[in-house]
Amino acid sequence: MADLGLSLAVALASPGRAADHFWSFMEDRSVRLLPHQFAAVFFSTLGQLVAGRGDPAGRRAALAVLGRVYRRFDLQPYHGTAVAAALVDTVRRFAGEGWEPELAGQWELGCRRALRLAERAAGALGDGPHVTFGEVEACEAAADGVAVLTVRPMRRVRYLPGQALPVCTPRLPGLWRWYSPASVPRPDGRVEFHVRAVPDGVVSPVLVERVAPGELLWLGPASDVGLSLEAAGDADLLLAAGGTGLAPLRALVEQVAASPNGRRVTLVVGVRTLLDLYDAVALDKLEQAHADWLTVVLAFSNDHDVEPAAQGDLLSLALYHHQPGQAFYVCGSPRLIEAARYRLPAAGVAADSLHLAATFHRALDSALWVSRQRSAHAAHLATVLEAAGDGSSLCQFRRDTP
Ligand SMILES: Cc1cc2nc3c(=O)[nH]c(=O)nc-3n(C[C@H](O)[C@H](O)[C@H](O)COP(=O)(O)OP(=O)(O)OC[C@H]3O[C@@H](n4cnc5c(N)ncnc54)[C@H](O)[C@@H]3O)c2cc1C
Repeated sequence: MADLGLSLAVALASPGRAADHFWSFMEDRSVRLLPHQFAAVFFSTLGQLVAGRGDPAGRRAALAVLGRVYRRFDLQPYHGTAVAAALVDTVRRFAGEGWEPELAGQWELGCRRALRLAERAAGALGDGPHVTFGEVEACEAAADGVAVLTVRPMRRVRYLPGQALPVCTPRLPGLWRWYSPASVPRPDGRVEFHVRAVPDGVVSPVLVERVAPGELLWLGPASDVGLSLEAAGDADLLLAAGGTGLAPLRALVEQVAASPNGRRVTLVVGVRTLLDLYDAVALDKLEQAHADWLTVVLAFSNDHDVEPAAQGDLLSLALYHHQPGQAFYVCGSPRLIEAARYRLPAAGVAADSLHLAATFHRALDSALWVSRQRSAHAAHLATVLEAAGDGSSLCQFRRDTP
């Protein structure tokens, strides 16, 4: 059976040449849509979206990127014919034995649908941070399976603490994943990401184990993923971080430190064992610098050598420290978020004080995401992204949004 994913995978075995061909195909027909430096980003992201690759969160990230490129370079619906022709011709030329004639129609149909979604995402996203490139300056193996990547973007990345941005390594072109900066925006523009290698994951093991200083990363537009401080008003904060879920919550602590307003913050950091506590130095410094309002609590779920008070799972310890009136933020693995969604309200945490990081794995996430974007634009985007995030190939799309 003809396989879109296989034909794309083979074509992307020579990503630079394929992207050059895609770009030249349009230039030769006087369709000047994109600067050459964005050809690889656009071609591979469009291709992966059409092929239906990536989980729902990854597909939302890809569409956010494509929407912003669409907007930035003023693509129009009438460009669809040229883009689809260039995409089909490129995949056919580079797919080798992965190509079968019936794929042409599937690629063309999928491309047109993906472009319609990108157009709507573009309208919803409006103007804002652009896709940019960043050079990896440092990769620190912070703990087993966790890397801290310091990236120097070529253009300043605009984001708010708690937000996440789509990140892609050109080693896996077009496969975008969300990662959260671990600090407030720095004066020097550098961005720090904390990445855990998920077993059997596609992208994260590459970021943790293979990406090296000097390599480029592609960086998409930042998005509110449910952890904005604005939503908490002036309430005291209880921040519960599982693993690398610490990154955006540490950024929130830094945001409070930058403009203290008298609120108190308890940061509960959950790891399995002491060896997994990858950011201890930074946490120590923060706690010492802000002892008057910041308390850091460590929760070890599987370490019998630490003091008994620090033994326990993250949510249990967070609940133990919870005070009425606090805004309760949780960030970590999809399993943690799922558990928090049920356990915390059952334990008496008021729904309107609960702020869970979006995982994009449930329809409810999209609804929460929409309400947190707090704008009609963002609501529109979430509808579009929901349609793109069902995990199927765009060729089989039935629910092309109105
Ligand atoms: C808003 C948002 C912000 C994020 N910020 C960060 C961050 O700062 N640092 C970070 O390391 N990751 C972060 N992630 C997770 C990240 O985007 C990827 O999902 C993760 O790195 C796995 O990608 P992958 O391609 O290796 O795995 P995939 O091949 O996409 O997925 C493999 C499987 O692992 C599951 N999975 C995804 N994330 C996790 C996890 N954390 N633990 C266990 N299983 C998981 C997926 O559901 C899937 O079933 C964030 C995700 C979202 C939605």
